[in-house]
Amino acid sequence: MIPDISQIRKDFPILDQLVNGKPLIYFDNAATSHRPVQVIERMNEFSLRTNGNIHRATHTLANKTTEAFEASRETVRKYLNAAEVGEVIFTHGTTESINLVAFSFGEAFIGAGDEVIVTEMEHHANIVPWQMMCERKGAILKVLPFSNNGELQIELLDSLITEKTKILAVAHVSNTLGTVNPIAEIIAKAHLRKVPVLVDGAQSAPHFKIDVQALDCDFYAFSGHKMYGPTGIGVLYGKRKWLDQMPPFLGGGEMIDRVTFAKTTYNQLPYKFEAGTPDYVGAIGLAAAIQYVQGYDHQILADYEHQLLIAATAKLKQIEGLKIYGEAQQKAGVICFNIDGIHPFDLGTLLDQLGIAVRTGRLCADPVMDHYNVENMVRVSFSFYNTMDEIETLYKALIRLKAMFGTMNMNSK
Ligand code: PLP
Repeated sequence: MIPDISQIRKDFPILDQLVNGKPLIYFDNAATSHRPVQVIERMNEFSLRTNGNIHRATHTLANKTTEAFEASRETVRKYLNAAEVGEVIFTHGTTESINLVAFSFGEAFIGAGDEVIVTEMEHHANIVPWQMMCERKGAILKVLPFSNNGELQIELLDSLITEKTKILAVAHVSNTLGTVNPIAEIIAKAHLRKVPVLVDGAQSAPHFKIDVQALDCDFYAFSGHKMYGPTGIGVLYGKRKWLDQMPPFLGGGEMIDRVTFAKTTYNQLPYKFEAGTPDYVGAIGLAAAIQYVQGYDHQILADYEHQLLIAATAKLKQIEGLKIYGEAQQKAGVICFNIDGIHPFDLGTLLDQLGIAVRTGRLCADPVMDHYNVENMVRVSFSFYNTMDEIETLYKALIRLKAMFGTMNMNSK
């Protein structure tokens, strides 16, 4: 079943504009998605009528803000099917969520000679915080590799995990290869060896229904701005059994129970991990974004995005000299590629001249670039507001640019 995309697009007025004189085609959704008017209006209305700092006052505006903030937490809890709101921590985004776990879990559970496993396809946000912690603690970072088709070599996991392994961190969906990793299987394997698992959900939360209890993941991190919400807000889900034992990440107001110069005691979950004034307007916007998506059948949106992926892959494969990186059996709407003889930056700039927004560069995934021995890639990534016509326009634009570069290369010989 195909959702009514023209109706959906009316909720995203940003899409209805000319860029460089051409109708905008936005294929950079993996970097950030757009916000529907419902989110923007909710945040505006809140700032216009309600704003007051949460949890700290007796006055009406502050109380209303606290209620809206905590209601947003409950919306997130339900969306993730977390067991309780104490397990839902608001952060600034996936990066901060992972840093929080790397720091606090590291402080509580990791010592010299212990091991942490990440995968070769991680975003830097799920590599560097672990490296920093390993350096601090004298621990060892181990890497689960992927095959050239973009699938993790899960069969190596059993030998990679040892009695020294303290945690495994893996992306649900790769931001470069588009691979949907079999995280349920990975979690089950890790749990058999008593290793907890952090799932980087930055690229999965926007597209799939997530049930943290069914997955049985120990931590799950995502960002609001990639799932139709605002920037500056994100979530860390963590099982209470871990969070309770982990020390705070940042210190300050809100995360304390009682402060004296002799000793400070800490607040209960989730506040222990929410030092300072949170982005409560962002949290309210994120809840509005979740409610927006819940207005549709998640599966229908996901199926439609899959159709976009299939159609775009088939089209791009018709272009001679175009190489796609990552052709896993299970893929989300992300395609990275290069075209022989055309620098990805040139391609990105020229596509922009045609109104087509794509991402170019190293995509915060140096190890993926190294795997394929390339400096940069071009990435297109889809959302349910994209259309088949837009894919056709991209295809024609690439054919045109390829012909243009072919002629230039001939002339320069
Ligand atoms: N993890 C993955 C897989 C990502 O794609 C990204 C962003 O592109 C991040 C983490 C970091 O997200 P943020 O910059 O919102 O913290």
